Amino acid sequence: MGRATCAVCAACSSGPGYLFAMTCAQHLIVENTRQGSVLSPRPNLPAHRAVLASLAALLLVVCGPARASRPEIEQLLRDIQVAVLAGDHEAYLRLVDNTDPVFFQEQRMWAEDLKKIVPTDFRLVIREASGAAENDSPEEAGDKESGGSSESATGGHDPVKIGDGTAEAPIEMVWTLPKAEKPRTLRWTAKFRRGDQGWLYAGEKWNKLESEGVLVLFDDGLEGAAKAVAEALPPVRKHVEQGFEFGPDSPLATRVQQVKIYGSMQHLQASIYLSYTDGIAGWNEPGEAIKLLVGRRTTADSLKPLLAHEYGHVATFELGTARMPWWILEGVAELSAEAYGKSREQNDKTVRHWKATGKLPPFEEMAEFDDRAKKWYGQVYGQGHHMLGYISDRFGSAKRVAWLRAQAQGASLDDATMNVLGLSFADLDKQWRDSIPDEEKAPQQGT
Ligand SMILES: [Zn+2]
Repeated sequence: MGRATCAVCAACSSGPGYLFAMTCAQHLIVENTRQGSVLSPRPNLPAHRAVLASLAALLLVVCGPARASRPEIEQLLRDIQVAVLAGDHEAYLRLVDNTDPVFFQEQRMWAEDLKKIVPTDFRLVIREASGAAENDSPEEAGDKESGGSSESATGGHDPVKIGDGTAEAPIEMVWTLPKAEKPRTLRWTAKFRRGDQGWLYAGEKWNKLESEGVLVLFDDGLEGAAKAVAEALPPVRKHVEQGFEFGPDSPLATRVQQVKIYGSMQHLQASIYLSYTDGIAGWNEPGEAIKLLVGRRTTADSLKPLLAHEYGHVATFELGTARMPWWILEGVAELSAEAYGKSREQNDKTVRHWKATGKLPPFEEMAEFDDRAKKWYGQVYGQGHHMLGYISDRFGSAKRVAWLRAQAQGASLDDATMNVLGLSFADLDKQWRDSIPDEEKAPQQGT
């Protein structure tokens, strides 16, 4: 028998199940529910059974159908499986709690990927108590058998904890991408919330740490890294906000910034979407948390370049909702981070070398994060950074911000460049390339 989750029935949490099936109305409800019986007493029911049934009905009102919720949550997981395997992103989102707008936006984009890539296999099951004790942190594991039954076969305590309209359970997700040789596996503790139409998936159960305008969400074992984020981000925010000319009273500067930190690459990747397999250290997209891959010994200083880069994305998205070219997004994020990490001089040197070796591709080829641009993955950050620095030096930060804002609000690269900087982008590009000194003539200091 499972653990009782209602305070009124706290005695049920220990002792042999058969005994409490006789003495605990809550369990009577469970047994009846599982067998599809009706709770109302039958006319020939013995008197003590009738009393128990009445008590059951009373406790149902007081406690809610707590134990009966486990099969409902298992049904939710099966519904999620069906939606994912059908590539039905709308059906999936109907099963997701939308209370937290940041989480729901992340889930919206997670589901969006199902329009393009549907896994060939996908399973989502509750890990039983014996497995839950092994390791609660997400990990890569073998392709384990898991029954997903509503009956706990382990005889241990029920890993599903059910509260007042909320629940949590350790779950395991196993999925195989098209053309992949092996399945991927991830484990975490999931939260659920009872909505009007039934239980909904409400994301991961996180530990929380707050500092000035920052909310860090993290797994057990990453307390040190969470503290490092909480310490590093407030001053980084101020620096980046100044670079984008957002005042201290602006909506951006006064908003709580969520940061989710991940201890494994696969955990971070799978939070973005199922088919995301590229190596990554940080992530931010409009309306989503900043996501970071961290180690247990991560320090505040070591995090600042990455945080400044990701918060540079947050600030860019604050300028408007239109999508601007990939190299600009990464270039201005790198410019935001240069005070903390890679020096301008070092990047200048790299760009001079690329020019000398014919590796400065047309910006047009780095406009979208697609297969064409992937071959320039090593260039897009540095080349974008250099061009953004060139624009800053030549036109000033106010015009740089105005040029970004124009594009974020829908202007094309050509129009924004002509209207804000006063020349065509083709001319700007040519003049930028001409401004890069030849490698052998380059000074030690930046240009
Ligand atoms: Zn970036």
